[in-house]
Amino acid sequence: MGNITLALAKGRTAESTIDLLKKVGIDFQDFHEDTRKLVFYSEDASIKLIFVKAVDVPTYVEKGAADIGIAGKDNILESQTDVYELLDLKIGQCKFVVAGKEGDFSPAKQRLTVASKYPNITEQHFRKKGMDVETVKLNGSVELAPLIGLSDVIVDIVETGNTLKENGLAIFEDVEKISTRLIVNKASFATKSKDIQRFINRLKEGLEAEYENSNG
Ligand code: AMP
Repeated sequence: MGNITLALAKGRTAESTIDLLKKVGIDFQDFHEDTRKLVFYSEDASIKLIFVKAVDVPTYVEKGAADIGIAGKDNILESQTDVYELLDLKIGQCKFVVAGKEGDFSPAKQRLTVASKYPNITEQHFRKKGMDVETVKLNGSVELAPLIGLSDVIVDIVETGNTLKENGLAIFEDVEKISTRLIVNKASFATKSKDIQRFINRLKEGLEAEYENSNG
């Protein structure tokens, strides 16, 4: 059962992704956000969906445990995996920024300390700028780090900007735009190209229809 295995990221964008799939006729009937179940099948049983932690989606796809993955660009970049990124689903749009205490950014400083949940993205960003930084990996509440002197700045995701504002922090620099992307295992793209292409085309048509609806 299931020609294609699809790894879907748990979390804030799962419901919107499932809604989009439903709109293009790919329905996982017994799926709901708070489910404990980890495996689902589409109505026609052609797609097996595995529901996994967002950070693990690129690994499942790179290793071939899933043919296709749907996850945030943040997790795809941070994973440094070797996969094809073929479609932007435009869900969960936000951005990575460098932020810190207002008026406190001193880029001339020799060695900045940067706190982030995303050490690879952080190091890559500053390496590109020719800056040597010390990265402090945190797992949450990153905004606290510059407030208590754990780091000079942070690299974090901003959506509305409210969290930064409420903590007296300002954006110093944009790093990268983020949204939900579709990734594909390289071997699967060769061996299951027809099925994968059909799946992608259906999603593309759904996205185009949504765009047309929202633009009158
Ligand atoms: P906001 O206050 O709307 O700017 O949201 C920023 C906070 O929410 C930060 O702590 C982010 O780490 C988190 N956040 C916002 N959007 C996302 C996302 N798409 N993925 C992961 N974390 C996010």
